[in-house]
Amino acid sequence: MCGIFGIENHPDSAHLTYLSLFALQHRGQESAGIASALNGNINFHTGMGITSDVFSEKRIEKLSGVSAIGHVRYSTTGSSHIKNAQPLVSKTRHGVLALGHNGNLTNASIIRKNLEDRGAIFHSSTDSEAILHLIAHGKGDFEESLIEALKAIEGAYSLVILTPEQMIACRDPQGFRPLVLGKLGESYVVTSETTALSLIKASYVREIEPGEIVFIKKGILKSVKIPIDKAVSRCVFELVYFSRPDSLVFGKGVQSVRQALGRALAQEMKGVRADLVMPVPDSGVPAALGFSRESQIPFEVGLVRSHYISRTFIRPSQALREIAVDLKLSPVKEALKGKKVILIDDSIVRGTTSRKIAQSLREAGTREIHMGITSPPIISSCYYGIDTPKSEALIANQRSLDEIRQFIGVDSLHYLSLEAMIEAAGGSHFCDACFTKNYPTPTSDQMMVVAGKGGLER
Ligand code: AMP
Repeated sequence: MCGIFGIENHPDSAHLTYLSLFALQHRGQESAGIASALNGNINFHTGMGITSDVFSEKRIEKLSGVSAIGHVRYSTTGSSHIKNAQPLVSKTRHGVLALGHNGNLTNASIIRKNLEDRGAIFHSSTDSEAILHLIAHGKGDFEESLIEALKAIEGAYSLVILTPEQMIACRDPQGFRPLVLGKLGESYVVTSETTALSLIKASYVREIEPGEIVFIKKGILKSVKIPIDKAVSRCVFELVYFSRPDSLVFGKGVQSVRQALGRALAQEMKGVRADLVMPVPDSGVPAALGFSRESQIPFEVGLVRSHYISRTFIRPSQALREIAVDLKLSPVKEALKGKKVILIDDSIVRGTTSRKIAQSLREAGTREIHMGITSPPIISSCYYGIDTPKSEALIANQRSLDEIRQFIGVDSLHYLSLEAMIEAAGGSHFCDACFTKNYPTPTSDQMMVVAGKGGLER
């Protein structure tokens, strides 16, 4: 769960990168950073917190250059520490390199051990640093060393790399995480989501293909493919929950996918009678609209969200997480009193949010709550960069449907079927391992350690 951005050959590169990090902020709030290239060197600044905490006008001025990359981080491996903030910048035998990574490598600890056995000194605990070391250890020139490094790593990576001369963007052969190419005048832009392109008025060119490396130098683009020996496996959860609805992700409008998920759920919940359909804001809004249109049950705003509280998930303890839900979501009593409601959300992870919401809807006088979730039960951890807890903390891994319903405290609970979710998301080539345990890469004990290291457990 990270956002990346890069712009090559633009005099305002640092400012544009800074603005774009705001558009990508939902992808990570733990740290932010920008690196820029000027006169054969790379300057950078990283800090803990959201973009506005980390950068001042003065800081951005100091980063002015001809090209820049930026990163927002939500840790999935490596702890929450400034050393893990990206872009990571290193002096190597290929010159100075800055790297921003979204995704999670599945063989990083093995690679790290091999490199450390050969004397490498790591400065961070992120999997991303292994990529820099591999490039630095490469035998050939920079391009050959990069390709060798990418062939050695497994798992999920969308990368943006900056050198004083060029910018490079790469996507893993399975295409787990999104990465798109845009154009602003004579400058190429790469970023996780198209919403960042729209913000800076860049046009959308295309996706960076799974297994593609693009080298961009003075506005000229060269594309290279690394061998693909595995099927494409895009993260379906990007469409269900993670990406912004105003983005195109994997070539699909996220908002229309979420509406389709809501329509599909309405089909599967046909028997449920209610006075109104309401979303858990903000993530449930497009799905609840789709549900309402399909079912002809009126859409209502039954919960108001405060935008001044950060994600509930980054609260350190269970008790504080629960209070944070109250702070964030407040029921609209006049809309709810005496009503039978269908409550739509995209997913249930631990059940904490849903339980608190159900409780506050009851306190507001709601008569019946029928909960609809636009994805199947999450039963297994993600090893590819979505921050999910260890399997034991996933409520659907531990309890039956009726036990979850009772825990949350709703009158009925409906999850969208896997088939309907995949169809609404556009058909095929998705990773659905968090719902099925069908991991598209080998799994190992090492990865079990990795899972659950992220924000949920802190
Ligand atoms: P929970 O209360 O633990 O079941 O959390 C469910 C809520 O968290 C839903 O409203 C989801 O939109 C949201 N959510 C799902 N996955 C994640 C995640 N990986 N990080 C943060 N929030 C999430």
